[in-house]
Amino acid sequence: MLDEKTIEELHSYYDRLPGGICLVKADDSEEILLANAELLNYYQCANWQEFKELTRGTYRGMVEASDYIPLKDIVRVKGQPEANYAYFQFPYRTREGHFNKGNALLIRTTQKGLGDIWSINVMKSKYSRAPGETENITGLLGGTAFYKRVNEHIQMEKIDGIGGLYCSVYFNLTNFKLYNSNYGIEQGDELLRKVADVLRAHFPYSIIAHLNADNFALVAPRDGVIEQVEAVCREVDEMIDNFSITLKAGVFFRDPDNPSEYTANSAFDMAKIACDSIKGDASRSWATYTETMGKNLAARAYVLENFDRALRNGYIKIFYQPVVRTLTGKLCGMEALARWEDPERGRLTPDMFVPVLEDAKLIYKLDSYVVEQVGKRLHTMEDSGMPVLPISVNLSSADFDQVDPLDVVERVVRKYRLPRSYIRIEITESALVKDGKKLQREIDRFRKAGYQCWMDDFGSGYSSFNVLQNFHFDELKIDMAFLRNFNDQSRKIIKSIVLMAKSLGVHTLAEGAETQEQVDFLRSVGCEKIQGYFYGRPMKYDDLRVHCRDKNLREETRQEEFAYDKLGLINVLTGAPVALCAVNDKSMRILYENDAYKKVLEDVSVSDLR
Ligand code: C2E
Ligand code: CA
Ligand code: CA
Repeated sequence: MLDEKTIEELHSYYDRLPGGICLVKADDSEEILLANAELLNYYQCANWQEFKELTRGTYRGMVEASDYIPLKDIVRVKGQPEANYAYFQFPYRTREGHFNKGNALLIRTTQKGLGDIWSINVMKSKYSRAPGETENITGLLGGTAFYKRVNEHIQMEKIDGIGGLYCSVYFNLTNFKLYNSNYGIEQGDELLRKVADVLRAHFPYSIIAHLNADNFALVAPRDGVIEQVEAVCREVDEMIDNFSITLKAGVFFRDPDNPSEYTANSAFDMAKIACDSIKGDASRSWATYTETMGKNLAARAYVLENFDRALRNGYIKIFYQPVVRTLTGKLCGMEALARWEDPERGRLTPDMFVPVLEDAKLIYKLDSYVVEQVGKRLHTMEDSGMPVLPISVNLSSADFDQVDPLDVVERVVRKYRLPRSYIRIEITESALVKDGKKLQREIDRFRKAGYQCWMDDFGSGYSSFNVLQNFHFDELKIDMAFLRNFNDQSRKIIKSIVLMAKSLGVHTLAEGAETQEQVDFLRSVGCEKIQGYFYGRPMKYDDLRVHCRDKNLREETRQEEFAYDKLGLINVLTGAPVALCAVNDKSMRILYENDAYKKVLEDVSVSDLR
């Protein structure tokens, strides 16, 4: 028998926790040592005495006779015997004779003063809300009430040592704003209610919250959670039937050896980090938190905290990558790419800071800086009497939300008295898919003002062909992925992109060429320009000069550019023989001959021509 003081102490813990809890002796007697207030409530018992009479003080008496299985057998048959726990269905009859079902978690532990015990945590089928807990349009708990509940739950886990058995799941409906603007707020609310229903159906015994507009969260037993999460995402995505609006989930499993080092908020922060990590990945609907993600978050914080200082102190450097004209093998331009040379962390590459700055809407600072540096560079080239090569700069769609990029570029052009043809604007295809109409107007403004606009990473988005139809560009930069997977299929795709671009009067550039074989192929299909490690990596301007001298890469003149841009649009992939020649009064040089032309030359002997 427990003394009164111990019983009182135990009650002060267990009565505060969510769900019904009872402690049962872990021997053949299965004697009930304690039942918390909520469990008495489930059984419609007013007090411990009534509960004891109803159950005869043993676990056996708590369940229907036909459902009784000794607790040790439940763990052996249904659970994880080595870990000493099990989930099981818990049918019971109340004092007033009503039949109910709950879900229970059974754990064997040793507790001070009690010895070996079973702890049974029962959740009634729907989590009932305490009066006064905030409710929202979905009828689920709101953030504050949810975190309070979860923290209580964590307390319970600490007492029972079961922290490793539960996990935190965070859901986000991506582009929910788009759904609202497409279908209206009422439909948006309706969708949220449906999502809530799907969550309830798949997690009937979990604490679920609708945190805010497009975010949901829940605590669930870890066993089988991924299957349920997958099913929820699938069901919701099928319901929405629009692949730019999808449900994504992040799951955080606590370290079973050290489960209590997290609060509710921090556990859900981790789940959110996992969820955010697949925001832009159409192929995935869920991710579990890993330590690398945590590290990424720290790296992200470093970028945000130090970016202004890096700009001020000149740690951001502009690297230039050569672009080569396929027909002549001459250098016809460069792309400006940012590098962050950090005194503490060494070199940070753009993938480490560009997406972070984009997210934080700070990318305009970087891009304005790059444009200024590029202007200065072009100015010195001109001043020193060297041939000037056009330089392309990258703009992000977020730039257009913060500043007027055309104005930024125009100021630089005026300051350094540059022709507008020296600066080219690259905008990635993915930006257009997201922010279409607005960007279209901005691109048109740039082009009207006299700037060439290039579509970066063409072929990487979902709807490249829609983009081609709706946007006007001067040049397509064919995404590197096609050369990375250089096979029959990608060759065919590149070929048809080049053909299509020519028929639209748009120039072509292939990115990421690393081998002679790739260069030969690009030449054979009439792709006009090549950028890739084959001709040079991005490097500091002075290094690039040396590199080009060593590799005998000579600069193209503006006149050559004008002529070759015209030639470049000719389709060389017809069945007819085509040769492109450069002619002046003294000589004629063949720049390019297609296969049909070579064949004709083979068939016709030189003497026939005389
Ligand atoms: P991007 O505009 O598509 O730039 C091309 C990237 O491909 C560069 O990476 C370049 O180093 C790499 N690359 C070029 N040739 C090859 C090759 O043959 N093989 C391989 N494996 N890679 C090649 P980088 O410099 O790391 O830039 C990554 C991305 O970061 C850029 O992709 C661009 O989207 C963004 N970025 C870079 N600088 C800036 C900037 O100043 N502003 C903005 N908004 N974005 C920038
Ligand atoms: Ca680019
Ligand atoms: Ca690119």
